[in-house]
Amino acid sequence: MREVMIIGGGASGLVAAIVAARRGTQVCIVERLSRVGKKILTTGNGRCNMTNTRMSAKQFHSYDQVDFDVVLNQFGYEDCKAFFMELGIMPLVEGSKVYPLSEQATTVLDVLRMEIERLGVEVLTDTKIIALKKKAGVWELRSETGEVYQAQKVIVATGGMTNTSLGCDGLGYELLKKVGHTLKTPYPILVHLLSSSPYCKMMKGTKIKANVKAFANGKLGREEYGEVLFTEDGLSGPPIFQISRVASLAALKKQSCEVILDLFPEISEDEMTSLIYERITAHPERTIEQLFIGMLHKRVIIPVLKAAQIESIHRTVEQLEYDEVMRLVGILKSFKFEVQGTRGYKFAQVTAGGITVGEIDLHTMASLKTKNLYITGEVMDVDGDCGGYNLQWAWATGYIAGQSVSRNEE
Ligand SMILES: Cc1cc2nc3c(=O)[nH]c(=O)nc-3n(C[C@H](O)[C@H](O)[C@H](O)COP(=O)(O)OP(=O)(O)OC[C@H]3O[C@@H](n4cnc5c(N)ncnc54)[C@H](O)[C@@H]3O)c2cc1C
Repeated sequence: MREVMIIGGGASGLVAAIVAARRGTQVCIVERLSRVGKKILTTGNGRCNMTNTRMSAKQFHSYDQVDFDVVLNQFGYEDCKAFFMELGIMPLVEGSKVYPLSEQATTVLDVLRMEIERLGVEVLTDTKIIALKKKAGVWELRSETGEVYQAQKVIVATGGMTNTSLGCDGLGYELLKKVGHTLKTPYPILVHLLSSSPYCKMMKGTKIKANVKAFANGKLGREEYGEVLFTEDGLSGPPIFQISRVASLAALKKQSCEVILDLFPEISEDEMTSLIYERITAHPERTIEQLFIGMLHKRVIIPVLKAAQIESIHRTVEQLEYDEVMRLVGILKSFKFEVQGTRGYKFAQVTAGGITVGEIDLHTMASLKTKNLYITGEVMDVDGDCGGYNLQWAWATGYIAGQSVSRNEE
C-alpha cells in the first residue's frame, strides 16, 4: 500500500507531489496520458502565464460564495514566485502577468519534473483511474486495465473538462460523485464566442481595440477593454475570453446574450457626433464610404455603415441626413452582436463549475465528505480570470494538499 496516491499529474498534482515528498511522504502520481503535465506545455500560448502580481479574491469565481482568501493567504503570488524561483524559474512580469523568463512553458514543466525525479516520486503514466472506493479505511484505485492500487490517502487532481486530448474529460467528477461529492454543472470558459452576426464574417481576421460589455438576459454581466478579434463564426481575443464566462453561463441557462462593442470608449456620443460633422466639413467632397478612412480599420467601415443602415454609400458625405449620423454614432459607440454560446470545451481553456467547494476544507483541501481524500485544482467549482489565475489556483491548492497529506493527524 502507498502512503499517498495522486490521481492526475497536471499542475496541481505535480505541486502536491513535490510538497508532500519534500516532507518525507511516499508519493505516487497516476497519470492517464503518456507523460505528466502535458497541459502546462500549452498554457499561455506556449509561454505559460503562471501567475499574476495582482492577486485577489476578485479574480476567482464559483457558483457559491467562497472565501478564496483562505487559499490565497496560504499560497499567494509571492509564495508562488518563491516556490518556482527555488526550482530555478526566473519570473518575467508583463503588465501584471507572470511568465518564466525563458518564455517557454516547457521549462516550467522541466523544473517540476526534475524535482519530482530528485525526490523519488513514483510516476505511473498511461494509467487511467476509473474507480475510487474505500475498503476498511483503505483507498482502492482501479485502473482502466484492471490494476488495483491501494493508498492511505488520495488527492484527486484530475482537472476539468476542457481539451480532452490533454487528459481532461470530467472523469474526476464521476470518481468524486461516487464517494459522496456533488457536482455544480460545468461549463466552458475562456473561450471564443459564437455569433450569427453577418458582420463577424465580414471582419474576419481583423483586430480592433474596443470596450466590451456582455449582457445576459439584458443585464450587464461584465465589461472589459482590449483587442477583439473577429472570426468566421464569432468573436475572440483577450477581452472576449474574459467575458466568455457570462456568455457561457447564459447559454447554459438558455438566456439571451449579447456583446456590445464601444469602438471609441474615450469619446462620448456627443463628441462623436461633433467629430463626424467636423470630418464632413473638412472633406465635403468625399463619399460616405470614405468618411471613416483613417479613423476606423478599413475592414470595419462597410460593416459599420451596413449596421447603421446607411444606403447609397457613394453619395457625398454632405448628403448624410442627421438621422443617419445619429445611427452611425449609435453603432460606433454600441456595436451589438447576438451571441449563441461558445466554441465549447474543445477550444476552452478552463471549466467553470465542478465539485462543490463547500464540501472541501480550503484550509487543507480535505474532503468534508470522506476522510483521507483531498481535492485540488480545476476539478473544484472554482475558476479564475484569464491572466495566470487558473494556474495560480492549481499551484496553490496543490501546495496546500501536499502539506496536508504529509501531516500526521493521528
Ligand atoms: C490551451 C490552454 C491554455 C491555458 N493557459 C493558461 C495560462 O496561461 N495561465 C493559466 O493560469 N491557466 C491556463 N490554462 C488553464 C490551466 O492550464 C488549468 O487551469 C490548470 O492546468 C488546472 O490544473 P489541474 O491540476 O487542476 O488540472 P490539469 O493541469 O488539467 O491536470 C489534470 C491531469 O489529470 C489527468 N487525469 C484526468 N483524469 C484522470 C484519470 N481518471 N486518471 C489519471 N489521470 C487523469 C490529466 O491527464 C491531466 O494530466 C490554460 C488551459 C488550456 C487548455
